[in-house]
Amino acid sequence: GTADIGVTGLAVMGANLARNFARNGYTVALHNRSRARTDALVAEHGHEGEFVATETLEELVQSLAAPRRVLIMVKAGQPVDDVIEQLVPLLETGDIVIDAGNSHYEDTRRREAALAEKGLHFVGVGVSGGEEGALNGPAIMPGGPKESYTALGPMLEKIAADFDGEPCCAWVGTDGAGHYVKMVHNGIEYADMQVIGEAYDLLRQVAGMEPEEQAQVFTAWNQTDLASYLIEITAEVLSQVDAETGRPLVDVIVDEAGQKGTGRWTAISGLDVGSPVAAIAESVFARSLSSQPQVRARARELLAAGTEGSGTPAPSDREAFVEDVRQALFASKLVAYAQGLDMLSAAAAEYGWSLDLGTIASLWRDGCIIRADLLDVIMRAFGGRDTDRHPEPGTRAEGQPANLLFAPEFTQAIAEALPSWRRVVATAVAAGVPVPVFSSALAYYDGLRAERLPAALIQGQRDFFGAHTYRRTDRDGSFHTQWSGDRTEVQS
Ligand code: NDP
Repeated sequence: GTADIGVTGLAVMGANLARNFARNGYTVALHNRSRARTDALVAEHGHEGEFVATETLEELVQSLAAPRRVLIMVKAGQPVDDVIEQLVPLLETGDIVIDAGNSHYEDTRRREAALAEKGLHFVGVGVSGGEEGALNGPAIMPGGPKESYTALGPMLEKIAADFDGEPCCAWVGTDGAGHYVKMVHNGIEYADMQVIGEAYDLLRQVAGMEPEEQAQVFTAWNQTDLASYLIEITAEVLSQVDAETGRPLVDVIVDEAGQKGTGRWTAISGLDVGSPVAAIAESVFARSLSSQPQVRARARELLAAGTEGSGTPAPSDREAFVEDVRQALFASKLVAYAQGLDMLSAAAAEYGWSLDLGTIASLWRDGCIIRADLLDVIMRAFGGRDTDRHPEPGTRAEGQPANLLFAPEFTQAIAEALPSWRRVVATAVAAGVPVPVFSSALAYYDGLRAERLPAALIQGQRDFFGAHTYRRTDRDGSFHTQWSGDRTEVQS
């Protein structure tokens, strides 16, 4: 065969990636379980480039030049295993199987190990940017064996988004690292969307600003250091008027947020690797709480006491309040990034990945949902993009800050935002407006820099009921107080 790449799974994502490859000059072999999708793609978009329609996976594989590159874009989960099982007997040593769907990184690790035994490369690739990104240039986060990148990387880089001449694509690490990085991207996305939601809620409920007026505020914010795709589309959504009712569309939409699982995975993994990703987890919990309409309805009846009159009047200086909210949003968003990047390092230590945070931040500068001016600043705080920099798993390369918030540009930005951030959280609490991520992010910030944490008391409690021992501030060793005896201390 002569085709450069085969794509199996031609629903919207697979079809758009296939078209993207073809538009970039590659010959793309097409396959879908049911033939109709293949035919539809060729009929509608066949003129966009070189396609080879195939009926079976055998035919797909035969149409490819060696080393064969087969990209799987089917429904995540069992379907990916089904397709792999059918593909493997058809492939030869050195061929590359690519999973570009939203697979769980543990599945990717398992599949990579299984295919490696058969001499095949399995590459889990994180792809972000939705349908439009897939077609016009997504952010691409490939994992898998590094050797495979020689044969695959240039093609992925060609179809990826481009930021100032650099592709939003680079090999991130072995086995499941690509899918892991994409998962954390999504976790940060959840938090970013939630902090925007909290800002909107405060402007609405405390400052009384209608959606249309807020659209202008978000448009203006998009000219500040908050500039990002999500802020931009927020202005679009807020200015949309429902054709049927004439009301702001946001008031017509049911306020129950859906989720497909990547945010939940991020929170779970954060717990697994012991990384405090509270802002990300809170944003997942906020969606879960929103999606319990019956409980919420009961709560409005039964827990109504104290709600009347709890709202504070619109602040006398609305402009100052709006700026306070902007600062709180920026600071909280930074914390979400700090937590997300931190969990990448923790996972790297756990799974033996060499993750370079500067390079990873560079991939998110364009093409993906969290694309934002801020990512270029974050990238520079981590020493810029350097695809040859491979820090020891769990460590950061020389000169990279141990926490995003320690980078000089951010220590200063947060210090400036802090008074606003506190005022906003205090106002929200007084007014009864829930701000789980604003407040959790602030607690993380205060927790990080606290002189003494009540963890000392918790150690005392643990020693009391479980003889778990504690360390002392004044000398080395582990100690236990004989709580049920004469309460003398023994060294253990
Ligand atoms: P779907 O997730 O809806 O999956 C549909 C495709 O999977 C069809 O081609 C279907 O074939 C195929 N399929 C399902 N089960 C099997 C099976 N057992 N064997 C073979 N083929 C099967 O498609 P999407 O395009 O929406 O998403 C594809 C992947 O991309 C998913 O992992 C999804 O999570 C991810 N995604 C990523 C986004 C992003 O922004 N990165 C956005 C949306 C999705 P058939 O036509 O025969 O039914």
